[in-house]
Amino acid sequence: MKFYSTNDPDHRVDLQEAIFRGLPADNGLYMPERIDPLPDAFFAELSNLSFAEIGYRISRQLLGDTIPENDLRRIVAETVNFPAPVIRLDERTYVLELFHGPSLAFKDFGARFMSRLMQHFNDESQGDLIILVATSGDTGGAVAAGFFDTPGIQVVILYPSGKVSDLQEKQLTTLGKNIHALEIDGSFDDCQAMVKHAFLDGELRSKLRLSSANSINISRLIPQTFYYFEAYKQLLQSGGEGVPMVFCVPSGNFGNLTAGLIAQRLGLPVHHFIAATNANDVVPRYLASGEYRTAPSVPTLSNAMDVGAPSNFARMANLFGQIWGKGQPMPAVHAELARHVSGYAFDDAATETAVRTVKEEYGYTIDPHGAVGYLALKEWQKGHPDTRGVILETAHPSKFLPDMRRILQDEIEVPERLAELANRQKVAQQMPARFATFKEWLLTRSVEKG
Ligand SMILES: *Cc1c(COP(=O)(O)O)cnc(C)c1O
Repeated sequence: MKFYSTNDPDHRVDLQEAIFRGLPADNGLYMPERIDPLPDAFFAELSNLSFAEIGYRISRQLLGDTIPENDLRRIVAETVNFPAPVIRLDERTYVLELFHGPSLAFKDFGARFMSRLMQHFNDESQGDLIILVATSGDTGGAVAAGFFDTPGIQVVILYPSGKVSDLQEKQLTTLGKNIHALEIDGSFDDCQAMVKHAFLDGELRSKLRLSSANSINISRLIPQTFYYFEAYKQLLQSGGEGVPMVFCVPSGNFGNLTAGLIAQRLGLPVHHFIAATNANDVVPRYLASGEYRTAPSVPTLSNAMDVGAPSNFARMANLFGQIWGKGQPMPAVHAELARHVSGYAFDDAATETAVRTVKEEYGYTIDPHGAVGYLALKEWQKGHPDTRGVILETAHPSKFLPDMRRILQDEIEVPERLAELANRQKVAQQMPARFATFKEWLLTRSVEKG
């Protein structure tokens, strides 16, 4: 299987290059050259397949035979070694819990799959591969957990001092081994600039093997298709055959929604998708008007969705025939997207009310991102009552403890793996926001084994 750039279908690379490059040189995004439906036999036996088996069959379909069967089975099994249960709120409303991984958010799926694919393709005889990541919070935690203890790979995470939550900082700074945290005296933009500078620095590039763990890496999207099938399987097992299934996806960069569209292309019978956003409503506006306008992001309660220029939008449009280039998406692309996806946006006040409503009506604690999804599903179902809606619950509510306590006026249950972080010792290297210092550190320190 080859991967092409959304900016140029003739630019094709193999899986290894797509993963290590992350981004094509033309600034497009990689997509698999074919997304063929899975065979009928797969759907006939789906309700008896394990999550790992489902993941393996999908990976095979999307990656071709690049990776030997036993290796691919192991990579998938290590990626989905935690469940994705579907919880029933009522007969029309279900929640797909994607937070049972190490960092308590769905990004664990992508980070784990990416780390294992990189390890598979990494030539260790060339020395350690060094992954550089700038984070403003969540991505770094998932990447740190996903790459922890991966042989032959060192991870260097730059985060802005005092600008990530205590919990997020602990997720970055307490693992040790091959995970190195740099606490930068500056902003997230400074961190990002230092990482970008490193990739452009000739001396670093010649002396070290650098790569990134960018959120737009195609390897992160692939395992995100697994859980759409897993949710369908669980609905089938509980007797859901025949009722149209819709997925409601709390969205920021639209990776999850894109993965859903890919799952549909793989043959999953999804009746419709609902894109739920906070005040950062570029995509709902586009779906309503046909005009695509990015905007500066505004801070909200569901802050992992505070995105003003969603990077995966190019992939969504490409699935319906858009070659991005510059200009606006074509009218035909808009018509197709709008046929598959409806968009709704909600502000923080509505989100808080929804968190309380879900608790009062169903006894379920939903996080602010999932609450935006709940609102969007209910809005859409006003016109489509005879459907089963599955809300992707993208993070565990305890990740947003102060807000959740304030909204519910109650204690929130904290999973053990999170509670125990509080007692771990933070280990971070403090550093000014100066590239020269960072470069010196990389050349002298990071080549040592963690
Ligand atoms: C990253 C994130 C999102 C947004 O997901 P996209 O795939 O970027 O749309 C939503 N909720 C949480 C908790 C996240 O961490």
